[in-house]
Amino acid sequence: MAYRFGLLGYPLTYSLSPYIHQVFLEECGFRGEYELIPIAVDEQLAQRLQTILARMRQGEYDGLNVTIPHKQAVKGFLDSLDEEAKAVGAVNTIYRQHPLLVGTNTDVEGFLVDLERGMPLDAGGTALILGAGGAARAVAFGLLSKGWRVLIAARRLAQAQEVVCNLLSHQDVKMERIKALPLSHEMELPPEDWQELRLVVNATPLGTKGLEQGSPLPSKFRCPRNTCFYDLVYNPPETTFLRQARERGCSARNGLGMLIHQAALAFEHWTGCKIAVTPQLEARIMARIWQDEN
Ligand code: NAP
Repeated sequence: MAYRFGLLGYPLTYSLSPYIHQVFLEECGFRGEYELIPIAVDEQLAQRLQTILARMRQGEYDGLNVTIPHKQAVKGFLDSLDEEAKAVGAVNTIYRQHPLLVGTNTDVEGFLVDLERGMPLDAGGTALILGAGGAARAVAFGLLSKGWRVLIAARRLAQAQEVVCNLLSHQDVKMERIKALPLSHEMELPPEDWQELRLVVNATPLGTKGLEQGSPLPSKFRCPRNTCFYDLVYNPPETTFLRQARERGCSARNGLGMLIHQAALAFEHWTGCKIAVTPQLEARIMARIWQDEN
């Protein structure tokens, strides 16, 4: 038997998912392929999504990932959503539970598992998330569920406020544990937030290929020395945001680990095979990407 997986999104030029899933297939001794399925946003969007999902129901696809800009739109075409997908309001993985199509969001656990490799999660603290899109929601949901306090800063304050309202309605958290802030170059944290700050997350696309010079970090941003910086951007691996963290003497990691962990969770949903994400496996994935890019 050969597996068939796919990624729905638009555009899909920079996706690393095919490399990652190819290595997972080899790791488990399976045959299969991972296709990029670009679907533009136009008047035929709903019909195209329905067609692909009908093909999955018929067994043509064993699993699908979903990325920008379809993570929300796809929800309406599925039979059920798990708790993560409901709370985050976005689906990044679709799997079959015969005869149903279920939507989940593996970004939540992918982020937490990778973050924990760099810092103790159980110690808690305050996290500042820059950006308030789908990935920011997943990160915020994960951190709140681990007992953290979360500040969400967005250039459109209303967007951050909406995320706060949605999370409060899905999670049993007190209002004091989550706050929306306006993101600007002049932004400074009040002392009570500053002192407890342990983590700053870039959940904007600034720094990614095509936007390499960008960073959402406010110009005079100060933080305690033991603050960890996490950039969801992984391509390129070194970003302005990560450099700014190191200049402040802080530890910094990019989002490649999260990408690999969220993919491993999706792969497990699709095949039942649990992938052990070891440094050796990560090195094989990196070598595959490097080989193809050069
Ligand atoms: P999204 O839903 O489009 O949200 C992006 C957020 O960034 C929005 O709040 C947006 O605000 C803000 N933003 C965009 N440009 C900005 C700018 N110039 N200044 C300030 N804020 C800006 O995207 P997403 O799905 O959350 O993804 C965000 C990033 O995370 C992407 O680079 C994505 O590739 C990455 N990601 C990585 C992983 C991983 O596994 N490592 C997983 C998911 C996502 P506006 O709405 O005002 O534009």
